[in-house]
Amino acid sequence: MPKILLLPPEVVAKIAAGEVIERPASVVKELVENSLDAKAGYIRVEVKGGGLEEILVYDDGEGMDPEDLRICTKRHATSKISQLADLYRLSTLGFRGEALASMAEVSKLTIKSRKVEEETGYELRVEFGKIVSFQPTPFKKGTQVTIKNLFQNLPARLAFLKSKRGENARTLEVLKGLMLSHPEIKWEILAEGNPSFSWPGGSLKALLSYLFSVEETYFLAQEISRPPYRLELLLTSQERVYPHAKNLYFFVNSRWVKDESLGKLFSTLLRRYYGSYGYPSGVVKITTPPQFVDFNVHPAKWEVRFRREAEVFSLLEQGLAELFSAKKRVFMAYLPREKSSPEEDLPLTFKTEEERAPYGFLPAAIKKRKENPDGLLNRQENLLPEERAQFKLLGTFSQAYLLVEREKELWLVDQHALAERVIFERLKKKKTFGVQELLLGKMVRLTENGFLRYLEVKDTLEHLGFKIKELGPQTLLIFALPDYVPPEEAEWILQDLLENFQPHLNLAEELLKSTACRLARKKGEILSETEKNYLLEQMFKEGLFTCPHGRPLFWRITLEEVERRLKA
Ligand code: ADP
Ligand code: MG
Repeated sequence: MPKILLLPPEVVAKIAAGEVIERPASVVKELVENSLDAKAGYIRVEVKGGGLEEILVYDDGEGMDPEDLRICTKRHATSKISQLADLYRLSTLGFRGEALASMAEVSKLTIKSRKVEEETGYELRVEFGKIVSFQPTPFKKGTQVTIKNLFQNLPARLAFLKSKRGENARTLEVLKGLMLSHPEIKWEILAEGNPSFSWPGGSLKALLSYLFSVEETYFLAQEISRPPYRLELLLTSQERVYPHAKNLYFFVNSRWVKDESLGKLFSTLLRRYYGSYGYPSGVVKITTPPQFVDFNVHPAKWEVRFRREAEVFSLLEQGLAELFSAKKRVFMAYLPREKSSPEEDLPLTFKTEEERAPYGFLPAAIKKRKENPDGLLNRQENLLPEERAQFKLLGTFSQAYLLVEREKELWLVDQHALAERVIFERLKKKKTFGVQELLLGKMVRLTENGFLRYLEVKDTLEHLGFKIKELGPQTLLIFALPDYVPPEEAEWILQDLLENFQPHLNLAEELLKSTACRLARKKGEILSETEKNYLLEQMFKEGLFTCPHGRPLFWRITLEEVERRLKA
């Protein structure tokens, strides 16, 4: 019996709709992109019930005349391209004519629209793919799309969605990126009746500062032009960085993209300037004539292909080099540091400076802690000579790698990774932890997703010794911490934990890893000879191979290998 049959059109339509419209956030993205394509100067977005009850997008853009409105929800109905060649000279965000058709298929959709020059507006209503009415209606200028009962006819899709709060968080994340793609226009965003963002229109820097609560003085700006490209960089300096790259946005011809290869490349370049500090927040904008890019790659149009990729890579490289040119760095050195009141982090239970940094590698700290077996890099262990690992520390390469001779091998050891691992092992062995209280508390700012993660794990955090108050929808106030977390690192560590956390990981262990990493980073550059020897001792004695995150600690070169290379 033949097994293949052609799917009925309703099923085909639903499958196609699912590719474009994944969740409420994707509806909002498509609608807002249409508003931007209609050259809106004002966009208002309202979501209710996580977007499943209602999504409303109004814009004051050019509107549609009745003939266009009547057919705009048909599949492949678009005013933006008319022939294949147009795909290579796109200047609009949309081009496939699929978005409204997909939404119309899986919701009750109403579009009101009026062109300025028309006398009246028109209203089109479509319910789950069927046009139910089309009639004149009084309407101001522009277009308003309302989506109700989203996915009501697709129960399988509904089952995959998160809570209202979760869907709203995703929607707001998407809106942030869209707002940053057009900072010059006015935006009003309401979730469940409450204003989430309200932006009168202004500069990109001011909008970044508004969305991420970072003072404008922290941003470094650079524009370069290398035909056919123009690059604009606006990034926070090394004094305001994050443990994740989620506040970094890429725009190509004003289209927000999330392209893995572009992101990876840029992260690699950033490391030259930010080292292990973390990632900046900010914007990377590339502008080029449309024939040099292809956006017709991904169903939701997140990805981009450059026709001459290598040129774009070197453009980014040059842009960063100029951003951090000598002149700018001098300027950076004079940046006002974040206001820090001395009492802010004062732990009530600790008194001296040394106790505030109980695991310091600083020689002074180590000397005073001789008797204390808990000092994390305390090397006062009385090993018998035969128990000591046999190795010779030859020196340090590039202030980062220890050169070690051992049994006819040369080892290059990553000292930061090793310190991280040794501290991590010590923390893990510690059986009891104290809690340090902070007099005034410490603010931690999260993305919407980070905040949702916090809500999921807040009991565990409390159990670990944190006392946390929710200050706002994305801000926490910490007023007690486990004693091994230095208060000045609290924001970083919690951001790292909540923004990068994978549900299957153990939170307590991730906290130790993140803490170990921060402690090691701070002190890693200034290790004394004794400390270096102690770390190596631990590595050989305990057979440590990787850092807590699994990266290798060393690279070994045998004497034979050296001889082979040099004698050939
Ligand atoms: P696409 O954006 O790929 O063309 P859509 O399904 O998103 O496809 O929209 C179909 C058409 O409807 C658009 O090409 C445009 O002509 C019209 N349209 C949609 N939204 C708006 C809007 N907010 N303002 C004016 N016209 C719109
Ligand atoms: Mg569109």
